[in-house]
Amino acid sequence: MSVAMFSLKGRVAIVTGGSRGIGRGCAETLADQGATVVLTYVRGEAAALEAVKSIESRGGQAKAVQADVAISSEMDALVETTVKEFGHLDVLVANAGIAIDGLLLRLKDDDLDALVGTNLRGSLASARAAVKPMMRARYGRIIFISSVVGEMGNAGQTAYAATKAAIIGAAKCIAREYASRNVTVNVVAPGFIDTDMTTHMSDAAKTSLLAGIPLGRTGQSAEVAAAVAFLASTEASYITGQVLRINGGLYM
Ligand code: NAP
Repeated sequence: MSVAMFSLKGRVAIVTGGSRGIGRGCAETLADQGATVVLTYVRGEAAALEAVKSIESRGGQAKAVQADVAISSEMDALVETTVKEFGHLDVLVANAGIAIDGLLLRLKDDDLDALVGTNLRGSLASARAAVKPMMRARYGRIIFISSVVGEMGNAGQTAYAATKAAIIGAAKCIAREYASRNVTVNVVAPGFIDTDMTTHMSDAAKTSLLAGIPLGRTGQSAEVAAAVAFLASTEASYITGQVLRINGGLYM
């Protein structure tokens, strides 16, 4: 009898910032593969509830929780209640993030603090909380969402790119720390994906961007989510400390 690959049946996953964009795509794909998904948001409750409804209408299981990644105690509580309710935590997708663009000379300390607090400290706080039950269970999959600009740079995104590059360094450390407990830690680095985060770009910026993408188009959340679901699967058991680029060839 053949067995379907990449099934997440029986797995429990947390997707931070799973109410919109790439996070929502991840939540939907993980649920489609059979995982029970806890998706978080901070402000957009309506979008979060809609994401849950969409997953349930496809026969999946999901729950929305308001939890700010920038507040570590909320991440600890999120993991605790998830384990209490569903018995275990197998997958964390540390996706929640914000973008504030601007040239270095105009960089405001408040913007830098907000980017570091949400994108970097938030990702690490969620991983720190999630790794505890994963260690105990001797099984875990942590997937960080970085960005192409963390590796290739982009004028006007110094602070944002710094947080995204830092995530890659951190992921490699965490991968080494918990490999002996069978917790794998990988990074997905999306290129330019059609979400609320990228809709504000001017047509001129979009045109010049497309010229640099060999596949000649921006990406979709589902295309990032497919890679995340693969890394979350049992079959990805020998992959850790890696950066998987989903960018249409923009950066190789
Ligand atoms: P998005 O459409 O703006 O969605 C962001 C999500 O994160 C929302 O669910 C939002 O919830 C949540 N969020 C924001 N701040 C949060 C916080 N402090 N705590 C918990 N949740 C929070 O963004 P996206 O484009 O999907 O981006 C998702 C991730 O991919 C980010 O880390 C981003 O840096 C990265 N990325 C995006 C692209 C791209 O082209 N779009 C490319 C590379 C990397 P609320 O609605 O409640 O605020």
